[in-house]
Amino acid sequence: MSFNSETLIDEMKGWRHDLHANPEFGFEEKRTSAFVAQKLREFGLDEVAEGVGGTGVVGTLKRGSGNRSIALRADMDALRIPEQGDLPYKSTNPGVMHACGHDGHTTMLLGAAKQLAQDGGFDGAIRFIFQPAEEWGRGALSMLDDGLMERFPFDEIYGIHNIPGLAVGVFESRPGAIMSAEDNFEITLTGVGGHAARPHAGTEVLVAACALVMNLQTIVSRRLSPADTSVVSVTELVADGTRNALPGSARILGDARSFRPKVSAEIEKQMRIIAEGTALAYNVSVDVKYTREFVPLLNDPELVEEAFAAARTFLSEDNIRTAQEPMTGSEDFAHFLKHVPGVFVFFGNGDTAPLHNPRYDFNDDGLVHGVNFHAAIARRRLPPA
Ligand SMILES: [Zn+2]
Ligand SMILES: [Zn+2]
Repeated sequence: MSFNSETLIDEMKGWRHDLHANPEFGFEEKRTSAFVAQKLREFGLDEVAEGVGGTGVVGTLKRGSGNRSIALRADMDALRIPEQGDLPYKSTNPGVMHACGHDGHTTMLLGAAKQLAQDGGFDGAIRFIFQPAEEWGRGALSMLDDGLMERFPFDEIYGIHNIPGLAVGVFESRPGAIMSAEDNFEITLTGVGGHAARPHAGTEVLVAACALVMNLQTIVSRRLSPADTSVVSVTELVADGTRNALPGSARILGDARSFRPKVSAEIEKQMRIIAEGTALAYNVSVDVKYTREFVPLLNDPELVEEAFAAARTFLSEDNIRTAQEPMTGSEDFAHFLKHVPGVFVFFGNGDTAPLHNPRYDFNDDGLVHGVNFHAAIARRRLPPA
């Protein structure tokens, strides 16, 4: 029962380009969520709720008498990245762009809502979840905190993300961990700055900070098991010195990824030991802030098989792949999976610029596959009586 309406695909391209030209940052998706809600009402959904968890939208479509329910989720937010390139539908919101393809994800879920509202083919309830602020890692939690599970209960949930570099029409997932936890850290070193010619008169922090950046590299290479995949990246080193004055304070910021809470805890523990030891050696003081932004995304093994079976209804077997290893990117879809089982899948965006690149664009050739996946998994998991 695959989808091949050229008219709907053309219509979806129009929605996608409109969303791309009008990107909005997390929790500011006012125009986007109004657009989504209006479309869902046009399609004749049974219920459309706006303002769920801020700017989230939940549409409900019911058929038959079944009491099972599944959720299909898309993210709506854009990034604070000034768009480069000259697409005819380039961002008109300065400094903000759809650099992660959430314009495409939103469009595919809208297309599926239209198709399922028209053609049915399922028994039960489908919740179409359009969430805000995925990039911050706050949108899913915000919807859950606003009573998502109580107000719009569902038994399973499915989500998709495009992947540049993977051919259009290729579909990937894997049982268990598929995306990582993301932790952030900020380490502040404080000493006594002073004249560049008289380092011995103070306790400057730049040499200590450089040593600390190098010492942090030993967390993954020397302190964690080689069997545990993880990344610790220092991404910023900012000191308050000037050409002829030694800095008195320096901040080291960065990001750590892992797939198990135990590993995340160990990274924090080792980071504190190394930071305190290095500060002591250089006679400066140190403060470590460590926060957990995203939890690991863990796919339900049985439902991964269901997702593959759904994909087989519209893709050939050689385009359906088990991802060999989890990605070290993060996704706040993981928060929904703390409440119900579900699956997150990847599909190819073709040979485009990478995600979060100022020249990235969602590939419209992938729209049809996203619609097909949403519709196929809904019909498979809510079979007509
Ligand atoms: Zn992103
Ligand atoms: Zn994304």
